[in-house]
Amino acid sequence: MDLRFTAEEEAFRREVRAFIRDNLDPVTHRKMVDGRVPTKDEIVAWQRALNRRGWATPSWPKEAGGPGFSAAERYIFLDELHQAPAPEPLSFNVGMIGPVIHAFGTSAQKERFLAATANIDIWWAQGFSEQSAGSDLAALRTTARREGDAYVVDGHKLWQGMAHHADWMFTLVRTDPGAPKRQMGISFLLIDLRSPGITIRPIVTLDGRHEVNEVFLDEVRVPLDCLVGAENAGWDVTKFLLSNERTGIARIGMTKHLIRRVKRLAGTDEAMMRKAAAIEAELKILEITQLRILDAQQGSNTPDPRSSVLKLKGVELRQAASELLLEAAGPKALEVVGDDEPFGSGDDEWLGTIMPNYAILRAASIYGGSSEVQKTIVAKTLLGLG
Ligand SMILES: Cc1cc2nc3c(=O)[nH]c(=O)nc-3n(C[C@H](O)[C@H](O)[C@H](O)COP(=O)(O)OP(=O)(O)OC[C@H]3O[C@@H](n4cnc5c(N)ncnc54)[C@H](O)[C@@H]3O)c2cc1C
Repeated sequence: MDLRFTAEEEAFRREVRAFIRDNLDPVTHRKMVDGRVPTKDEIVAWQRALNRRGWATPSWPKEAGGPGFSAAERYIFLDELHQAPAPEPLSFNVGMIGPVIHAFGTSAQKERFLAATANIDIWWAQGFSEQSAGSDLAALRTTARREGDAYVVDGHKLWQGMAHHADWMFTLVRTDPGAPKRQMGISFLLIDLRSPGITIRPIVTLDGRHEVNEVFLDEVRVPLDCLVGAENAGWDVTKFLLSNERTGIARIGMTKHLIRRVKRLAGTDEAMMRKAAAIEAELKILEITQLRILDAQQGSNTPDPRSSVLKLKGVELRQAASELLLEAAGPKALEVVGDDEPFGSGDDEWLGTIMPNYAILRAASIYGGSSEVQKTIVAKTLLGLG
């Protein structure tokens, strides 16, 4: 097994780095470096710049309008974005619904949605979770019944990331409450969020930001042609979507960026440098694991159960790095800076983003499959336990 990148792949890395340097808006870049959250307009502008270059949808095959990257190119591309740092392509659009529509959609749905999704002419939200349906997603209760030319949807979705920016939401609904298995009565619907009967309410999280929401659906009429896949076969679509959600989930480049910041603050503090080195050593091991998985994946699009290790360990290391950054910043981290506050001239105002980012990063062990669920997958599929 050769874990080195080829000369062509190294050349591709330089090309991506140069593109980011020349095309990422300086204000968006400064926000990313400082740990602020870019605005909707800034995220859209960057994705459109990537789209003009043909790179907005790194995981899409050529026939879906994507660049047709190899697994190694996809990894290099995301690693450069994370390290720059630059915003990732919008995951709801690019990592989730785009590949689903390409794999399961009708030709009319592909025509209507794929290009608009790549360019964020449509911003999507993910309407899966509910109050008692998170890890146990098949417990969902939102219902849809057929009435003439539409489904009528009733229910309450919880934790919809950035739904207040969204135009449409891909949603799981129960279409057959009497199905012999819970998974067999679920359908996958695309819902226009401007439809009558929809209320989106903000949830402000521990970091003081408004990124997640709850979405209430009250007798919402959804045209029948917004069903993806067959009625009651939404679980197959969901499994496909969730396996894609793990691509690039280790976010090693983001942790490298955090460690660079720790070192900047640590100066000559040896104890702090030693802690940073301990995280870096583990990060190197994770990176080698990632490359081994990539090597095994070349030419295959089947999800690898080892990606659970990447998610689990990637999150642990990112959380450890953010904790160390908090320690290095000390009380200055408590002078919180809002995402939209004008930039001051102070060299250390970015310290005010450390505390909120530390807080919200705790949630990374819950979304995208919680750490406990990942451990169960590792135990069953990799260790052969249970
Ligand atoms: C910041 C954030 C953004 C999110 N964005 C979205 C979004 O955009 N769209 C969306 O639909 N959802 C979103 N979610 C919801 C997310 O998918 C759920 O929070 C997640 O699936 C966990 O579900 P839950 O919150 O109901 O917790 P639960 O599933 O109730 O879990 C509670 C605890 O029990 C543990 N647990 C559960 N089952 C088991 C088990 N079988 N074995 C061992 N331990 C177990 C879990 O690990 C966890 O620690 C988001 C969540 C957060 C926090």
